[in-house]
Amino acid sequence: MAKQEDDFKRVISHAKEYGYVFQSSEIYDGLSAVYDYAQNGAELKKNIRDYWWKAMVQLNDNIVGIDAAIFMHPTTWKASGHVDAFNDPMIDNKDSKKRYRADVLVEDYVAKIEAKIEKEVAKAEKRFGDKFDKEQFLATNQRVIDYQEQARSILSRLAKSLEKEDLSDVKKLIEELEIACPMSGSRNWTDVKQFNLMFGTKLGASAESAMDLYLRPETAQGIFVNFLNVQKTSRMKIPFGIAQTGKAFRNEIVARQFIFRMREFEQMEMQFFIKPGTQMEWYETWKENRMKWHLSLGLGEDNYRFHDHEKLAHYADAAADIEFRFPFGFKELEGIHSRTDFDLGNHEKYSGKKLQYFDPETRESYVPYVLETSIGLDRMFLAVFSNSLQEEELENGTFRTVLKLPPVLAPTKAAIFPLLKKDGLPELAQEIVDDLKWDFNVLYDEKDAVGRRYRRQDANGTPFCITVDHQSLEDQTVTIRHRDSMEQERVAIADVKRIIHEQVDMKTWLQKIQ
Ligand code: ATP
Repeated sequence: MAKQEDDFKRVISHAKEYGYVFQSSEIYDGLSAVYDYAQNGAELKKNIRDYWWKAMVQLNDNIVGIDAAIFMHPTTWKASGHVDAFNDPMIDNKDSKKRYRADVLVEDYVAKIEAKIEKEVAKAEKRFGDKFDKEQFLATNQRVIDYQEQARSILSRLAKSLEKEDLSDVKKLIEELEIACPMSGSRNWTDVKQFNLMFGTKLGASAESAMDLYLRPETAQGIFVNFLNVQKTSRMKIPFGIAQTGKAFRNEIVARQFIFRMREFEQMEMQFFIKPGTQMEWYETWKENRMKWHLSLGLGEDNYRFHDHEKLAHYADAAADIEFRFPFGFKELEGIHSRTDFDLGNHEKYSGKKLQYFDPETRESYVPYVLETSIGLDRMFLAVFSNSLQEEELENGTFRTVLKLPPVLAPTKAAIFPLLKKDGLPELAQEIVDDLKWDFNVLYDEKDAVGRRYRRQDANGTPFCITVDHQSLEDQTVTIRHRDSMEQERVAIADVKRIIHEQVDMKTWLQKIQ
């Protein structure tokens, strides 16, 4: 646990030190669970967003993208169920006065059981070596079976109690499991209560005419209310999708995990409109498609897993999360939800307007079903960033900090150095910068010894460093150093663009999805 905490602290301080993420309003001591993306963070975030947008909108001729407003008519949130049901169960510890999400306390307890299972697996793997069969071990080792059963029964009881809104049983469960407040170690809990997560605000100049509004807690509703407008103007036929990225706001009860859980965050959502009855096929298809998208970035297959929901949200008939191994364990990164006709049906009811699709072949009209994929851009950022941050021991026994971002996402693709600040080397290096900047984000750096400049760019995540030396003036060649292997090669200046392009081109990466 201590190692996990240290690793996570290292991620947060590296993000600050290298201009990725700052605490919002830091000079006023910050605002809880609100963060700003700095010069490198904004680029990384934009690249992740582009990678998603291209995979969704550009590569699928039946998906289009929109950009709806954050403010929406307040009835939207009645129809969507958020006014009545967008609650989290909260519980306070009477001694530390800290507030927690009751379900998260229980889930964290279960995560500890899962960690024990992983430990048993690792031990057995060591013992059996190449002969180790994980599936078989999980199915036959009595201790592991007991752990699994314990985890399953706790989660299923939690799901049932939440489903029935039986909050006193959630409290009972916390007491039976003897869960203590992580801050004070005390088990002195209040009752569990529901807490609505939407932020309210007002629209209008005078107090009398002002209208109560909510900041959107998800981007999805902007897609639903535009469904017919988009379908008609794009002349899409079912099945088709509408994608959107944008800010969402939630007054989260506990927000202590850096950009994992923020009060203002960004979502990348796609709603896929389908014929009722076909939802299970599309559910499986989109689970597979989204996992392939994640795997294409090469962060390691073992770091992802599916988690099927025990408790379904008010709108869903099937739901799964793609979980990622964050520095604090496996947690939700993306949700894939079969939302049925819940949203469109309710918007029809509340607005009195028809939101039906006319099928030109069968000549029938119907309210489509919806399959949603929803990923938090900030969580994806944290997944990429934390996974890429590595401490490496070098052959000479020293260490280097390297941010092995997938080159396609790296904020700066190459740094160009003159070996010395004289003899015309800076001028040639600047010429190379001026040529490359039309294609990539590059930077020029002449400060400190070259070795230190390499380390700086390693920690910054820059995949290539290009050094101009005296030989460059004679034969128009430079050395190009690769971040991950630290190998250096002498190449013609004329080839530099192609070499960078091969590694950072989105097309090459996106092709791995198909
Ligand atoms: P959680 O259970 O972690 O609260 P959720 O199930 O409420 O998440 P969804 O409503 O399915 O999340 O939202 C879709 C995605 O949006 C999530 O998978 C996550 O990546 C992202 N997300 C949700 N809430 C936050 C938040 N407070 N900060 C950052 N990202 C978030």
